[in-house]
Amino acid sequence: MTSSHTHNKAGIACSHVVRRKRPLMLIAHDASGVWQFMCGKSDHTRQKQAKKVCTTCAIEDYAPGITADEIPPGHMAERRTKTTWEVRPMTAEEVGEIDASPVHTSESVAKGDKP
Ligand SMILES: [Zn+2]
Ligand SMILES: [Zn+2]
Repeated sequence: MTSSHTHNKAGIACSHVVRRKRPLMLIAHDASGVWQFMCGKSDHTRQKQAKKVCTTCAIEDYAPGITADEIPPGHMAERRTKTTWEVRPMTAEEVGEIDASPVHTSESVAKGDKP
């Protein structure tokens, strides 16, 4: 539909969703603005399964029935039916669990005073 947007890479999708092996069942928008698109299964042990995706495209392609505007930061959407989503705030546990911290560039911390 709206294809006139900047293709940023602010989103992360699990490889199942990217390869369309499984439907997208869970969208998480964490408080730092990172989007995650997951199949909802718990067999992702390695973060290397995560692929960077354009958030806008991912929602258009994989998530009919919901738009990015409906999921504020710190919220997640779970799929109920093919086109029905339930949006709710993330719990503190979920924030910790899902955190992939992909966009942290903290180079000022490493260089420090040595004893
Ligand atoms: Zn895009
Ligand atoms: Zn998956």
